Parts: sequence; structure tokens; C-alpha cells
Amino acid sequence: MKTLFKNLASELKIELTDEQINRFFKYKKLLVETNKYMNLTTITEDRDIILKHFIDSLTINQYIENEKKLIDVGTGAGFPGVPIKIIRDDVEITLLDSLNKRLNFLNTVIDELKLKKINTIHGRAEDVAHFNEYREQFDYVTARAVANLATLSELCIPFLKVGGIFICMKANIEEEIENAKNAVKILGAEIIAIDQCILPESNIERNIILIKKVKNTLSNYPRKAGLPAKFPLK
Ligand code: SAM
Repeated sequence: MKTLFKNLASELKIELTDEQINRFFKYKKLLVETNKYMNLTTITEDRDIILKHFIDSLTINQYIENEKKLIDVGTGAGFPGVPIKIIRDDVEITLLDSLNKRLNFLNTVIDELKLKKINTIHGRAEDVAHFNEYREQFDYVTARAVANLATLSELCIPFLKVGGIFICMKANIEEEIENAKNAVKILGAEIIAIDQCILPESNIERNIILIKKVKNTLSNYPRKAGLPAKFPLK
């Protein structure tokens, strides 16, 4: 499995060290063990975890410049934030989720893997994005499988500095992009690229939407908890 993982990562032009691979495997073990009594993931087979969680998360590494600050919104069991941390000592990562038990799991992962320059926050993005220490403080926001693009834009773009990039990972996009275009504009950003990729040695398609913040987000966004999902901006 370790060789398979190393080879799949090389296809993304990522050369994993033995130490990094050992950390990923420790993470996999903690994920599978904890998942027996806590709902963390439906993906539990070794090969699937490697491909659909680890490799999938690493597809966004190419967009992240050195020494930047990143927040992973709705990180769940740590995707894509933890895999990025494992291979990037230089990037400062914040993991945000509204479910405290998932953050307890992530704090254990951080301790056991001895990860540095990474922290967790428990809260809803709608609230945390209004706190001064997090609002417009990040170079990158990432999100995978959290909500539709219009809703996610409202949850994520307020965290970005002007010039920062929201890296949104999606399986299906066409209709969502159309529906989110105006929301992105209202929030002070613009879609700069939609990259499609196929996960190595599979036929699994992924889309990575890059949204750049071009001006400050108005202080009324995000709206109160629940509203971005219930009434996505149009
Ligand atoms: N990003 C992870 C992944 O790809 O495996 C987790 C995806 S999981 C389907 C969605 C996560 O987003 C859940 O852990 C949920 O608690 C979190 N979430 C949903 N809405 C949120 C919000 N408004 N603020 C913070 N976290 C939220």
C-alpha cells in the first residue's frame, strides 16, 4: 500500500518522503479506528482512503504558494487540510468545523502525528468569519463536500484577504457554477479558473474551482447561521 501511495502521489508530481508516508498511515489508522464509534467517513477501505481522501486532497497542493495561511472550512475528518499539512511544513493551516467531536479527533491526529503550524476551531463559518482574528486573514480557503457553491462562497470568501484564493473541490459543477456566479460577485470575488482532473489510476473526475477575492466583503456577509444554506445568494 505504501508503494501504491507513493506512486499515485508521484503522478501528481509529489515525491513523498518515508516520514510523510508514515504520518499518512498513522492518520489512516486513527481514522479507521475512530470511525468504528464516531461517524467520520464512509470511505474505509485502505485503497479508497489513499485515493479518495489522501490523493484527492493533494490535488490542490499545486495551487498553494510557500509560507501562506490557509483555512479549511468544514474540514470534517481533516480533508483536504490534514494531507496538505503533512506535506507542507511551510503553510500555516487552520481547520474549522461546526462539529466538536470531529475536532477532538483532529486534535488527537495533530498530537499523534506531531504536526506543527496547524490549529483547530470549533464553530460555524457564519459566526467565525465575523471574528476579527479570522475575517479576511487568510491567503487560501479550501472546502470539499460542504455545500453548494453559492452557499460555500458566502461561508468561505469572507475569510480571504483581498488577493486570496478560495480553492473549492467539487465532483459536479455545471449548474452550480451558473447559480453561484452572482453570489461570488456580491462577496467581492471572481471565478478565475475551473480545473478538471482525473484521480490517478482511476476514472474519478474532480473539479477544482479557483475563486479570487478582488475586494473586501461587505460586513453583512456571511448572514446568520443557516441562512446561506437555506437561501443561497442569487
Ligand atoms: N471536508 C471534509 C471532507 O471532504 O471529507 C468533510 C465533508 S463533510 C460532508 C461536511 C463537514 O462540514 C461536516 O463535518 C460539517 O460538520 C461541516 N460543516 C457544515 N456546515 C458548516 C458550517 N456552516 N460551518 C462549519 N462547518 C460546517
